[in-house]
Amino acid sequence: MTDADIRAKLRSLIDPELGLTYDRLGLIGSVQTTSDAIKIGVQLPTPAYPGRERIGEAIGSALSSSADGRKIDVTYTWQVLGRETGGKIGLRIKNVVAVGSGKGGVGKSTTAASLAYGLKHFGAKVGLLDADVYGPSIPLLTGAKGTPVVRDIELPNGQKIQRLEPIDADGMKVLSIGFLIRDNQAVIWRGPMLHKLLTQFLQETDWGELDYLIIDLPPGTGDVSLTLSQLLGLAGAVVVCTPQKVALLDAIKAISMFDQVKIPVLGIVENMSGEIFGRGGARAKAEELRLPFLGEIPIDATIRVRGDDGLIGSLFEDDNPVKPHLLRMVQNVAMQITRRVLVDAPMPSLEIL
Ligand code: ADP
Repeated sequence: MTDADIRAKLRSLIDPELGLTYDRLGLIGSVQTTSDAIKIGVQLPTPAYPGRERIGEAIGSALSSSADGRKIDVTYTWQVLGRETGGKIGLRIKNVVAVGSGKGGVGKSTTAASLAYGLKHFGAKVGLLDADVYGPSIPLLTGAKGTPVVRDIELPNGQKIQRLEPIDADGMKVLSIGFLIRDNQAVIWRGPMLHKLLTQFLQETDWGELDYLIIDLPPGTGDVSLTLSQLLGLAGAVVVCTPQKVALLDAIKAISMFDQVKIPVLGIVENMSGEIFGRGGARAKAEELRLPFLGEIPIDATIRVRGDDGLIGSLFEDDNPVKPHLLRMVQNVAMQITRRVLVDAPMPSLEIL
């Protein structure tokens, strides 16, 4: 059996997560055959791919009958798939993902920070941009401190440009208006100022090469989303809501807002699910709207305490009751981003609502 025969046998296998062929996902990286082994290098589209062993098992069964007693050895690497839509404004970021909500206080910033730290936990290169200019809480949640400075950068062609340097939070680049204004200072943003600030935070900032940039949006309003949509076109938006009925109505408003500014919705996260607010409302709503449900984050004091202490990232570093839920949410989001890159599914229209 030649390497080409092996590739042909694996090409049309279907991946268990997205239901796409291995060929479409580009899963089979390398194929090497020796006298005693068939070595397959699987290349995952995101390091947050859940249950990679299932791919190994499927490859094992697909090749077993023609292996002639040779060992089938599957190894895994990853390379994040992305459309790099920010390329037109000079960004080298594979996927720019917004996190939004219909109203404040639902845990949007906590979810955005958790998503960023979670993707980093899996090994991806991640940045976190706080675009919630009316209530920037990313500095508090990450514990990152400092004042971003503007640096001269020399391009390979000798041209000198100036770039804003994000703040380092545990090896992750973070930027927020909170680093630039005094504590408790209220800022009134007029449309053009907001547009200018976001342009600077994206186009004139040294983000470097990233797999994912997570953007924490202000709750509700569409002006920031519209600017983002015009500037770079996003991989998609995650909508965060709490399980009660009224909160779900707000989530629908957020979805309809993204719809209007042409940002695809990746799905809905239910935050603070548990005894107080109930559970399952967002899942049911997601099903009704035919949107992916991205997971439940329980209401748990661990989250509030770590957030207040600037230690949201530590939720991925030790055993705590919310970690498995957060990991699952991060994996679901990563998979929906991948699906969007490969399948240009149309947005469900909300006009029927
Ligand atoms: P938003 O960005 O939607 O305004 P935040 O992320 O700032 O909301 O969260 C609001 C408050 O709720 C914070 O004090 C945060 O620590 C707390 N919080 C968020 N999610 C949870 C949760 N799942 N369990 C407990 N507290 C939470």
